[in-house]
Amino acid sequence: MPDYSSDFDGDTVVVTGASSGIGREIASRFADAGATVLNADIEPEPKGAETPTHEAIRERGGTAEFVRTDVSDADDVRAVVERAREHGGVDVMVNNAGLFIGGGLLDISEEEFEKIHQVNAKGVFFGCQAAAQDMIDRGTDGAIVNTASISSFVAQRDQIQYDSTKAAVKMITRGAALELADHDIRVNAVGPGQIATEFIDGWSETAPEAAAKDDLIKPVPAGRAGTPEDVAGAALFLASDDADYVTGEILMVDGGWRII
Ligand code: NAD
Repeated sequence: MPDYSSDFDGDTVVVTGASSGIGREIASRFADAGATVLNADIEPEPKGAETPTHEAIRERGGTAEFVRTDVSDADDVRAVVERAREHGGVDVMVNNAGLFIGGGLLDISEEEFEKIHQVNAKGVFFGCQAAAQDMIDRGTDGAIVNTASISSFVAQRDQIQYDSTKAAVKMITRGAALELADHDIRVNAVGPGQIATEFIDGWSETAPEAAAKDDLIKPVPAGRAGTPEDVAGAALFLASDDADYVTGEILMVDGGWRII
């Protein structure tokens, strides 16, 4: 596993949706690499039994805090960036929070469609906007990493509304990369495939046609589900100096699913 400590020592990193799953691992890895991490999640500990992310990081000697944030609320997102200013400002913004609501084209309600787009698409847009404004105001370069998905590229049954949010994340990433290149701000995304988190449980509840978890990994050439660690490594790479000439990219972490 690469050691990124020289890249993130003293940096401030905001990770949305870091109370659980992929975001929790990304936050932990940034903290291990020397960053002060702000977990911007709507829930401090959505899985109940787990130690909250910020406490787990502090127990390991890292620096982290929880800032309750609903990413679908632009004021909330600006507030967490404001909080990051107290630590020197945002060096890396990871727009990772997301949710899944399944359903077929003819079944989805307007409320469901709006809800998932507000969190998954608008949340990423607000995060890019607020972080970019902070970086530009401070005249500093920086990196933004969004969480896209295999669903940014591949349509699946009963996922039309989720897939459309992740297609939006892909284009928000590319559009922001284009606009922010003038300011030396890079914008990229990770594209997870099937990653073993609570997310997949939510998926099977709301899209029962997806059936058993084993069925979910059948199309994956690597033959296994990915882990939050797999995705976190890619996120740190994209934010690091090693990716200095990489912008507008969606780095797939999908065990080869997208190539079939
Ligand atoms: P998860 O459910 O474990 O974590 C999602 C986190 O986002 C939770 O902590 C939740 O509280 C938070 N969140 C939800 N709504 C929020 C809001 N309005 N404001 C702030 N925080 C909010 O899921 P995960 O698997 O870790 O997913 C993380 C990201 O990865 C999501 O964007 C998801 O779409 C994406 N993704 C996951 C998979 C997978 O297979 N797990 C695959 C592709 C993409």
